[in-house]
Amino acid sequence: MKNIMLIAPPAAGKGTQAEMVVKKYGIPHISVGDILREISKEDSELGNYVLETMTSGKLVKDEITYQLIENRLQQEDCKNGFIIDGFPRNIEQALKYDEILQKINQPIGNVILIDVDPKTLEKRITGRRICEDCHAIFNINDKNQAPQVESFCDYCGGHLYQRSDDNIEAFQNRYQTYLEKTAPIIKHYEDMGVLVSVDGTQSMEEVFQDIVHIIQGSEK
Ligand code: AMP
Repeated sequence: MKNIMLIAPPAAGKGTQAEMVVKKYGIPHISVGDILREISKEDSELGNYVLETMTSGKLVKDEITYQLIENRLQQEDCKNGFIIDGFPRNIEQALKYDEILQKINQPIGNVILIDVDPKTLEKRITGRRICEDCHAIFNINDKNQAPQVESFCDYCGGHLYQRSDDNIEAFQNRYQTYLEKTAPIIKHYEDMGVLVSVDGTQSMEEVFQDIVHIIQGSEK
């Protein structure tokens, strides 16, 4: 059984790596960002609040995310492990996460930090495109990840879109928030002895190999 947490700055390849882990280990991917993006489509007070907050690059209120996580982790498919990403994003969320795990009798598992410098991140952010239909991720600033036909998905032919928060201003906001809020979380898990760091500037496959080594190393 594997519980995995990914910590990474925005656009470090966290989503891609999470999907690769899901495929290899058959565990559910719990992305708070994705859950919130779904909620942001709802025409309700909550939907409007979430949309506004995400577009500005700020964090959604803790009470909302706690409820989402607690509900999600209690679903049947999480019994044999899960990969959580985008949570916790501040030390309060980390402490609350420890509490939730204890309550539902789950170990913390592997905490993996994907490390990438801000210049590389900025290039990735402005080039990121996502398929509307199958959610495949491309990058027009990287010839190895660009779609073969501009604006269309290589896999299903769906239309590619740019996330509303994938712009320089929102990135700078999100990166600043990441630096301020995430440093204490990294220290928290370092102190617990569960944090391992991987070099996120490597190719997608190399990063994944490092992650697999960490997961398999912890199973020995
Ligand atoms: P992500 O897809 O992880 O980059 O998240 C996109 C946006 O969703 C963030 O900029 C926040 O507005 C919101 N969000 C995601 N995870 C959290 C969280 N743990 N707590 C609060 N807001 C979050």
